[in-house]
Amino acid sequence: MYEIIKPPFTQNIQEVNNGLMVKGINIFNTGRHVDLEQHKEPAFSAPLCSVPIRECVYVPLYDPLGGNMYPIPRKGDRCARFSPLARTKTPSNEFGPSWIMSPVSGYVEDIVAMEHGILGRIFCAVIRPDNSVPPLPTVQHSLSTMTIDGVLRTIHQAGIIDEFDGEALISKILRARENKIREIAAIALDDSPYISSALKTVCEFAADVTDGITVVLKAIDGGSAKLAVFDCDEVHARPDSDRFGFVKPVRMSGGFPLISKFKRQYYPNGDFLPIGVQALRAAANALIRGIPQTNGIVTVSGDCIKHPCNAMIVNGTPLEDVLRFVGVNKVPNFVIFGDTMNGVAVTDMQIPVPAGTRAITVMHSLSYQKKTACTRCGKCVTVCPMGLPVYLAMRYYENGDVGQAASFGAEQCSGCGACSAVCPSGIETADIMRGLKKYKRSLNNNTGKI
Ligand code: SF4
Ligand code: SF4
Repeated sequence: MYEIIKPPFTQNIQEVNNGLMVKGINIFNTGRHVDLEQHKEPAFSAPLCSVPIRECVYVPLYDPLGGNMYPIPRKGDRCARFSPLARTKTPSNEFGPSWIMSPVSGYVEDIVAMEHGILGRIFCAVIRPDNSVPPLPTVQHSLSTMTIDGVLRTIHQAGIIDEFDGEALISKILRARENKIREIAAIALDDSPYISSALKTVCEFAADVTDGITVVLKAIDGGSAKLAVFDCDEVHARPDSDRFGFVKPVRMSGGFPLISKFKRQYYPNGDFLPIGVQALRAAANALIRGIPQTNGIVTVSGDCIKHPCNAMIVNGTPLEDVLRFVGVNKVPNFVIFGDTMNGVAVTDMQIPVPAGTRAITVMHSLSYQKKTACTRCGKCVTVCPMGLPVYLAMRYYENGDVGQAASFGAEQCSGCGACSAVCPSGIETADIMRGLKKYKRSLNNNTGKI
């Protein structure tokens, strides 16, 4: 069987998405894309559901900026829902350390170390839910009377991870403030074939997304906002403009990755702050309702899933619980965190679903499963949104010259997966490029180069 990820090239979400962050988004300009067949149904039409916890949750205690955190409760302690489970070792910014909050009330069974296919080696708090433990009371705020510092501090303390790029929302906002960026784009561009969690979020929680935009605009002293919504024939996620108050939805259709088209069309000359709609909803929950981000909407789909759906999943729910809930009706050869375009395949079904997960895609077969040698057809080059000479990198990679292969701009790879999707030889070029990017970074770290 052809493996999607070849060790040691397993990368983490943040590295994959570095190219999509505010500072990097300017280089998404080439207009290249790949047309993809969509498979969003029936998951998109199914009612939003919740995955029940069977026994325990395994809440990852990791810092989105890198490294593990200090656990706070000890084995056997009671922990209330929304109470702190861990904090960063050092302050992340002027607002102090970052925190991970408990998604459930219950008892801490243990703090365990785990090799997580996405996050690397992490510690997890194992919590057995117990409804007799009351949740921590929440503190609600009024946005109109809150200072900007208060807004920033609340977003920071809510520990919000932006599902759009895997980065802490507070880090993105502080960087936008520093760079005087005054425009927000709420991103619901579900342009990968199976994913529809952002579309579901805008359809089900329009008011929360709009409130989140208001919150972040206040935090950056902004300006204006757009809501970018993926629009395709398969799903009719065409939210009425008036459901979003002052924000006008912009419908985007076309090839993958759509973010580059959106950028070219609406921000050709300037920077903007792209934020996933789930992170915006979480910002509204934190400010207005005093609720930290402890769950997310995840599309669970693929050609092996009996009941494809969008499900509300509590952070730390074991992957196995999710698969039992949706049912698997074929041998799952590929279990992917994310979509088939740029997700990461995992082999351990016990690992927990971390914050910021947009999709879990379970496939019996992938269209590009057959693998032959590179024919130098050049299709990968024509679709790469970063304009990278992918086939040149493949030539050296196949000859075992990783150093030379990495010298063709691998550090700019956004991990979008477009090159893999078009490769007629079925080569997982995107994974190789991401691996080369990691290799290049490790070299630069060793030499102190940036
Ligand atoms: S698309 Fe595949 S076969 Fe064609 S040049 Fe790129 S890596 Fe080689
Ligand atoms: S090399 Fe492949 S994965 Fe990387 S940006 Fe280009 S098309 Fe996307």
